[in-house]
Amino acid sequence: MAKVMIIGVGGVGSVVAHKCVRLPKVFTEIILASRTKSKCDTLAKQLGRKVTTAQVDADNVPQLTKLLKTHKPQLVINVALPYQDLHIMDACLAAGVNYLDTANYEPPDTARFEYKWQWAYHDRFKQAGLMALLGSGFDPGVTSVFCTYLQKHLIPSIKRIDIIDCNAGNHGQPFATNFNPEINIREVTAKGRYWKRGTWVETAPLSVKTPFKMPDKLGSLNIYLMYHEELESLATHIKGLQQARFWMSFSDNYLKHLEVLGNVGMTRIDPVNFNGVEIIPLQFLKALLPDPASLGPLTTGKTCIGCQVRGKDTNGNDTVAFIYNVCDHEDCYREVKSQAISYTTGVPAMIGAKLMLTGKWSGAGVFNMEQFDPDPFMDDLNHYGLPWKILKREVFRK
Ligand code: NDP
Repeated sequence: MAKVMIIGVGGVGSVVAHKCVRLPKVFTEIILASRTKSKCDTLAKQLGRKVTTAQVDADNVPQLTKLLKTHKPQLVINVALPYQDLHIMDACLAAGVNYLDTANYEPPDTARFEYKWQWAYHDRFKQAGLMALLGSGFDPGVTSVFCTYLQKHLIPSIKRIDIIDCNAGNHGQPFATNFNPEINIREVTAKGRYWKRGTWVETAPLSVKTPFKMPDKLGSLNIYLMYHEELESLATHIKGLQQARFWMSFSDNYLKHLEVLGNVGMTRIDPVNFNGVEIIPLQFLKALLPDPASLGPLTTGKTCIGCQVRGKDTNGNDTVAFIYNVCDHEDCYREVKSQAISYTTGVPAMIGAKLMLTGKWSGAGVFNMEQFDPDPFMDDLNHYGLPWKILKREVFRK
């Protein structure tokens, strides 16, 4: 018996809500809260089960605290934007509510992806006897659980991890992003960074590229080295890790548009005076681009996200495995009216919430996904729409 509050009803929030309503024994009561209440009401009508809706500006801590104290949920599922993370954690502490998110905090004025701000809440959550689970999406999220699953069952001594995120889908738009455009473009235009023998190595944005042949006859794509937040938590929690890198696929068309937008200053995140009004060019660009939620009915093809892990097996021999999920954009749309990027994020958020509420993952403090037993999460991925496979061979060399 648990009441949850889902904050944010964009692409990801919609999937979380669709998945939670189907598990009434776990999520007995659901509150949808977001900045624009009409979007909560529209979503509520699609869900086929009665849910409560509420307006909230999650950056307004007293307002959110009051809402939490009124409804008394056991858990907040934060699928608003990374800028809200700390404010929502503050409100959860003030109201005595557990917390889960899918993306680490980012300060609005600098594109910095670090866990330090949220890890600093550990003692306060611990003292309050509350749990915060960080990064329960696909990447971060499932990718970390994939690694700990291999560590538990196949490769106890992990030396190298390559996370590979491929989207072989097509939405037919000249230029669009698959999740919030502002967050997506900040991430993609940031410097690349990877973990090597105890230090971080930086690369110019999208300067390291290599072809990748996806399994299951999905074809080949160019993948690019990027920084991604789970590298930081994996480097912290996987002892003996020597190298961890993150790669993402981009089409030439996407990169061509991004380069031009960058060259003309449209991806800037500092304020610019326009006709006496301060605007942030990237926020203005977001207003012009297609809403990722509108891509659902248009997108065809599949995503393939996985981790190639190298290390020593239980006998001390060198070994390598690739663990991955393939997700079909059209199947996702048929099931929950969203494309696969929102689906692959929303399903793990629901699963993380389920494991917290059923006590399978528990603790007081702030935790990352690597810190828990991967088995129940992996079982639920198979059960709730994100089945995975393991290939006991090398699929990628660079
Ligand atoms: P959207 O932009 O589609 O949705 C964001 C939602 O948050 C909207 O409903 C928006 O309201 C609401 N919101 C924004 N600001 C506030 C606020 N101050 N108070 C209350 N509500 C607010 O984003 P996505 O659904 O694409 O992404 C959601 C999250 O998922 C992001 O943090 C993103 O980084 C993360 N993500 C994680 C992935 C992973 O694998 N781990 C992959 C993809 C995304 P309004 O409609 O009024 O703007």
